[in-house]
Amino acid sequence: MHKVYDWIQTHAARRPERLAILDYATGHRVSYGEMHERVAQAAGVLRDKGVGKGDRVAVLSLNSPTLFEIEFACARVGAIFCPLNIRLSAPELLFILNDLEPSLVLADTTFHEMAVPLAEEVSAPLMGIEGLGVDTEWSTACAAAMPVHDMVDLTHDDDWIIIYTSGTTGRPKGARLTHGMVFAHAVNVGAVTSLTPRSVNLCLLPFFHTSGLNVFANPTFHIGGANVVTRSVDPAQILDIIDDKDLGVSHFIGVPTIFQFMAEKPAFETTDYSRLEGVMVGGAPAPEALLRRCASVGLEVAQAYGMTESGPGVLVLDKEDAQQRIGSSGKPLMHVDVRLVRQDGTDAGQDEVAEIWLQGPSITPGYWRRPEANKNDYSDGWFKTGDAAYRDADGFYYIVDRWKDMYISGGENVYPAEVENVISNLDGVLQVAVIGVPDDKWGETGCACIVLRENATLGEDDIRNACAANLARYKHPRDIVFLDTLPQNATGKIQKRELRDQILRASA
Ligand code: ATP
Ligand code: MG
Repeated sequence: MHKVYDWIQTHAARRPERLAILDYATGHRVSYGEMHERVAQAAGVLRDKGVGKGDRVAVLSLNSPTLFEIEFACARVGAIFCPLNIRLSAPELLFILNDLEPSLVLADTTFHEMAVPLAEEVSAPLMGIEGLGVDTEWSTACAAAMPVHDMVDLTHDDDWIIIYTSGTTGRPKGARLTHGMVFAHAVNVGAVTSLTPRSVNLCLLPFFHTSGLNVFANPTFHIGGANVVTRSVDPAQILDIIDDKDLGVSHFIGVPTIFQFMAEKPAFETTDYSRLEGVMVGGAPAPEALLRRCASVGLEVAQAYGMTESGPGVLVLDKEDAQQRIGSSGKPLMHVDVRLVRQDGTDAGQDEVAEIWLQGPSITPGYWRRPEANKNDYSDGWFKTGDAAYRDADGFYYIVDRWKDMYISGGENVYPAEVENVISNLDGVLQVAVIGVPDDKWGETGCACIVLRENATLGEDDIRNACAANLARYKHPRDIVFLDTLPQNATGKIQKRELRDQILRASA
């Protein structure tokens, strides 16, 4: 099996002066030469703590340059980097920590207090990291450690990262990301989005989410480009950063809600988007109205589809096709096999909605300690995604929805995303989620939960009229509910399970 090479060491040897990380909050710049040394010190600390091959290092932290150093330090000693979702509650985190049995827990100043009892509970040592220029236990230990400049012997089958799925449909599962997966994914993303050593990626999404870490951030390190790290995602600030000529941001990925909130800002109209080469939106369906709005101001956004288990990139719509194929997630990346499979296990035909199955070097070999899921979610070596899609005559894929979010009204399948698209096209609608709720007559029927823009004058009738004009009758939602907010997870995804509970509780 293919051996693993140390990306940071390679770039440090080839071009030590090149920028690896810019910390936007402090303006601090780290070159590849410096990053190599910092990773060496961090790996020295891991080694001093007895962390070795296959051991888990759990990290609870906001995005920061230190997280990248820890990620590559883990690789150097063969440990598994496990960034945890900082928005989770203490019991949810404890569930994950018990699952991981980490050899070391690291927490930044914001989360340190919360981490103390958690680390104790799983009997793992805890160290404080990242004080924004202030010394921490970690930085002091790094300064004193014996540096580790060479990577232990690893193969592409060894685990590098465990990321838990977003927990949109149930308890989060730890997806194992092997060195081979992260490498194949970096090559894949680089190939389809013109990443070069001159690329500058703006990190907006959290690193505990696979899109934040593996779309652009890790591929940028792989190719020797620069990552700009921000600690928050204030939409006005994002526009400012994009507009900054000297910084020259060329790539970034966001979830639909980020773009939605950017589009609410006056600067959205005036920002200079001309330096951007690769902008992706993914993680959840992007409303077509939003994609059109972005295109109208010159912000070319490629819809992408993927998941934690797939590295995450599976499909992406090339810039060249974006205007003609609005609503499509494009075509498969280079090194991934995609099948659309009917419930009976046979392959679907053109334009037929079926489940997406995946195979290839960037697909996870399995979940961490989930024998049940590892059995149920695979078939003959294919990973079953749980997502419904169809492929048109030209080979473009359209994600329809999650299989499980589909509901059946009067014997007809309704995919909520289709109804959501119609509603979100209306001016005045900020967010919408349609869920299936029990109905005596039809079995199930739709409930549209809508958040309006400030000052919007839209009423229930406008929503009903739009559905009547655009959708077959069985797809019209029976209930229309206006809410102040929708439950979202840490990546901004609407949590339909929670929303459904909330709606059912309110109507009980
Ligand atoms: P869990 O698996 O724990 O329920 P999750 O599936 O939301 O959570 P992620 O791996 O973060 O966890 O998200 C991947 C999922 O997001 C995909 O399986 C798909 O349902 C959805 N998704 C991603 N990109 C798109 C897209 N472009 N269009 C529609 N849905 C998307
Ligand atoms: Mg999932």
